[in-house]
Amino acid sequence: MPRRLREAVAGLRGTVRFHARLADYTSFKIGGPADVLVEPADAEDLVQLVVQVSARKLPMFVLGGTNLLVRDKGIRGVVVSLARLRSIKEEPESVLYAEGGVGMPTLIGYAIRRSLAGLEWAAGIPGTVAGCVVMNAGTRLGEMKDSVKAVRIVTPAGRVIDCPARDIAFSYRRAELPAGIVAGVWLQLKPGVRSDIEKVVKDYLRYRRDTQPLTLPSAGCVFKNPPNDSAGRVVEAAGFKGARVGDAEVSRTHANFIVNQGHATAKDVLALVRKVRTHVVRKTGVTLDLELKVVGQA
Ligand SMILES: Cc1cc2nc3c(=O)[nH]c(=O)nc-3n(C[C@H](O)[C@H](O)[C@H](O)COP(=O)(O)OP(=O)(O)OC[C@H]3O[C@@H](n4cnc5c(N)ncnc54)[C@H](O)[C@@H]3O)c2cc1C
Repeated sequence: MPRRLREAVAGLRGTVRFHARLADYTSFKIGGPADVLVEPADAEDLVQLVVQVSARKLPMFVLGGTNLLVRDKGIRGVVVSLARLRSIKEEPESVLYAEGGVGMPTLIGYAIRRSLAGLEWAAGIPGTVAGCVVMNAGTRLGEMKDSVKAVRIVTPAGRVIDCPARDIAFSYRRAELPAGIVAGVWLQLKPGVRSDIEKVVKDYLRYRRDTQPLTLPSAGCVFKNPPNDSAGRVVEAAGFKGARVGDAEVSRTHANFIVNQGHATAKDVLALVRKVRTHVVRKTGVTLDLELKVVGQA
């Protein structure tokens, strides 16, 4: 493995870190090491990486890091962060093209400066634009499928394909995309009035600050909402606000968040998740599905 790993990342212009601690790359501040973590310098570098990794049949995982629980032994193979793919271009007819690593807050700021409306629903989502497509991220104001025009994907063979939104099946926190890495996203916005757009964004950010535990590390909502209900309400009604395993705690502010009170491990979080799910299904018959993506080795 080590030789194949070194070959897979040879000649790249981006950043390459062996044994990178993934806790430093996740909003939860939890996670063991990646064998190697690569931040490609640009889209070309990403294609080269994909080709080299595929040729050596190594596993590859892409992260933005805000909806993830990385287990304590980390991730084998190559972990890719698109943190350096962060350019945004304005195209005709209120279209923006954002490289995959652009953070949603940055993209919203860019749209506001150009008086482009349509992304206000995403205010406060911290993920990358690519991660938001893959997750079909959403809030009560809207979801990613409302804004995506097309997606650029680097396939495992290293081919770059552009996939129009009509060919993507979006559903609740899910998008069925061709296999590969999302390298960029076209967003269809519309002309708006800057102060109106700003107001919606500010109001929603305030609402989040009032209702979500934003000062502690977390990965956002842990469970998907069950049909016609909210997971936060279900967990709170089951009496789990403040429940704790080690340093993992069900937030007292919003019961669908688990926060890291200091040194929580993935094992702590998963034990707490199991406790909540087992209790809730026994008492109410409701099965809470995970929105959080759990990856890596225990
Ligand atoms: C405080 C807080 C608030 C949040 N609020 C919301 C909210 O309101 N609504 C909501 O939907 N989510 C919310 N989230 C969760 C998270 O921000 C979203 O799920 C976001 O879409 C994840 O993006 P990411 O880039 O961090 O991807 P990650 O969490 O790293 O990855 C998610 C999945 O996408 C895949 N992926 C990531 N990038 C790529 C890529 N370039 N190509 C292919 N696959 C990729 C990963 O492999 C993984 O399977 C919140 C999180 C936090 C911490």
